[in-house]
Amino acid sequence: MNTYEFTCPDCRSAIPVTDPMREATLANGCPICGRSVTGEHFAVRRRCERRSLDGGFDISNG
Ligand SMILES: [Zn+2]
Repeated sequence: MNTYEFTCPDCRSAIPVTDPMREATLANGCPICGRSVTGEHFAVRRRCERRSLDGGFDISNG
C-alpha cells in the first residue's frame, strides 16, 4: 500500500497517511483544522530510501 505525507497548507501539520486516509482527507478536509485540501497537498513517500544503510546496495556503476 502506498503511503503519503499530507501537509496542510493552513495549519502546516505534516501527517503520514495511507490510501484510505488520503481519500478521507480529500473528502473531509484536514483532520486537524478542517481546511479542504486537494491532491497537491499529498506527497508520495518512498519506502526503502535508507536501504544502503543495512545492505550496501549501491547502484553507482555508471
Ligand atoms: Zn490543517
